Amino acid sequence: MKGLIFDIKKFALHDGPGIRTTVFLKGCPLNCLWCHNPESRCFDTESYIRVDKLDGKSFNKQKTIGNWMTVEEVIIEIEKDKMFYEESNGGVTFSGGEPFAQYEFLTGLLIVCRKKNIHTTVDTTGYIKREQLNKIHKLVDLFLYDLKHMDDKLHKKYTGVSNKLIIENLKWLSNRKSNIKIRFPVVPGYNDSEKNIDLMRFLLENLYPDVRHIDLLPYHKMAGSKAKRLGLKQQVGGIEEPDARKLGYIRKKFEEIGFTVGIGG
Ligand code: SF4
Repeated sequence: MKGLIFDIKKFALHDGPGIRTTVFLKGCPLNCLWCHNPESRCFDTESYIRVDKLDGKSFNKQKTIGNWMTVEEVIIEIEKDKMFYEESNGGVTFSGGEPFAQYEFLTGLLIVCRKKNIHTTVDTTGYIKREQLNKIHKLVDLFLYDLKHMDDKLHKKYTGVSNKLIIENLKWLSNRKSNIKIRFPVVPGYNDSEKNIDLMRFLLENLYPDVRHIDLLPYHKMAGSKAKRLGLKQQVGGIEEPDARKLGYIRKKFEEIGFTVGIGG
């Protein structure tokens, strides 16, 4: 079986505990207006022209995003840095796109990692069928779980899908005492309102008490320029990055309900 990978990042320090290898699976069922990984959305390989400059001349090079790999090939890449995982209590993180969208491939990877005693983190939107989550959740050592908006209508407008499954899956995982850290992409003008933060607080403070960490992921303008560079469609322009005062305010709101708060993931 092969899965579609768009990047493998070595020595990642912000995608879970310790030193990690982050494997990015291509394809996402969401379509966030502010997508920070535009090359990850499509469920197929994509081509773009890269312009390199040398001695005042321009050279066009066709590049492909996405690489079909077997479970064994990905595991070989992951195992290259096993020594660093052991030294730092690190491991592998599966990110995307939405890694659960390649459910069978991801299951294959998680089974081998468990056999080889490699710590696994899955960075997810939570948009996964319950039957699949039920089968796979015990193979995951840590979930990095994204919450984007509490208002269902706005969630649909901004991401293309309802938040109902996402919220219900989060509660379900929490009730099973899964190891979960929340991630909140802070996108000014879209999800940083007082009302949204308050609704998030209400949800989070009623989860199982071991879920007590949230990372605020400030929107970065780089997402827009990345899409342009790759010749991909940019959903919206002109989003500002959140300022330090706003991030400090949101941090305080989550600290008030007993959460530790990281900024930047
Ligand atoms: S969930 Fe992530 S990868 Fe998918 S569209 Fe949204 S920002 Fe992009």
